[in-house]
Amino acid sequence: MKFSDVIGHKQIKQRLIQHVNQKRIGHAQLFLGTNDTGALALALAFAGYIQCRDRGEQDACGKCPACLKMDKLIHPDLHFFFPTAPNQEHKKDVSSKLFMARWREQLLDSPYFTHFQWLNKLGVENKQAFINAEDCNDIIRALGVKSYESPYRIVLIYMVEKLFYAAAPKLLKVLEEPPGNTLFLMVSENRDRILNTILSRTQVIKLPLPDEASLVRTLVERYGVEAKTAQHLAFLTGGALSESLRIYQQDEEQLADFESFREWMRSCYKGDAARIIKWVESTAQSGREKQKSFFQYGLKMFRMCLLNNYGAGELIRIEGEEEDFIHKFSPFVNHGNALQIVDSFNQGILHLERNANAKILFTDLSFTLHRLMRQSA
Ligand SMILES: [Zn+2]
Repeated sequence: MKFSDVIGHKQIKQRLIQHVNQKRIGHAQLFLGTNDTGALALALAFAGYIQCRDRGEQDACGKCPACLKMDKLIHPDLHFFFPTAPNQEHKKDVSSKLFMARWREQLLDSPYFTHFQWLNKLGVENKQAFINAEDCNDIIRALGVKSYESPYRIVLIYMVEKLFYAAAPKLLKVLEEPPGNTLFLMVSENRDRILNTILSRTQVIKLPLPDEASLVRTLVERYGVEAKTAQHLAFLTGGALSESLRIYQQDEEQLADFESFREWMRSCYKGDAARIIKWVESTAQSGREKQKSFFQYGLKMFRMCLLNNYGAGELIRIEGEEEDFIHKFSPFVNHGNALQIVDSFNQGILHLERNANAKILFTDLSFTLHRLMRQSA
């Protein structure tokens, strides 16, 4: 991660670069903000700039051995600590080192992830994650050995507010008397939850969300989003990348659901066996959760048809092609068959939950739908 990979924050980057070049790097710094502000990304870029052996005026070189190792997050003088929780694989006594592979994977994917995404990555969606006492022992151990390759040893602590209270005294001790040439870069979303004793020993860099124009550029250049959509997303989220991507992907999924649903309903109505089989083949390949959410989408569309039929069109909260489709399709969903159609979809969800064979399920359902729609026509 180079400074140029961090969205926006031109002035803050400039200040950090100055500190390095004037050899005024504070030994404990706190990057305050959610990952969407770029707090973690910036801490990483800062670490990379410090470790680079051939620093430019604006950024790390990206080519020296130190940069190459930083790129893969395997620099021996960069130590990561972050919140973890027991999962299926590690049932107790968890600490950062057990999850290092997942951490690298997450960071390499993007440092603009949400806490929920991190819990997902750990495989512990519903648990609280902490930085544990064992992590603090590991920090002390890491500081006990000489730095390997660079003048600075960097300890990056992500979400320091998740420090388990019993572990705090150990960390405080090293913050109070840090061994020479050791830098602590801490990242936190919530200043109020950090122990005052830790806060008072750090230099705080508070980050707002990046400016919208910078986010638009990132969405267009790195994620291939159309400029107009990118502007809309940046405005909607105030500059938050993960939130923008979430909305964008949801829209894409909804569009895919719509196109698939329309194709299915048309071929069922026509009773076109070849088209039905083709559709079933492709739908049966998607994951179970995806299939279930597709059924939910279908249920929503049937509800819209009924609203339309009963003259409550103003309650239809969709637009564009979906709306056109509802107008054309709703005559085929009426009081004669609606209950049975809805019931067949609910049954579908239930069968999927019981691991029914998706191919058989969708094929059967296609012929049921054909019969039901024809019966009403
Ligand atoms: Zn370099």
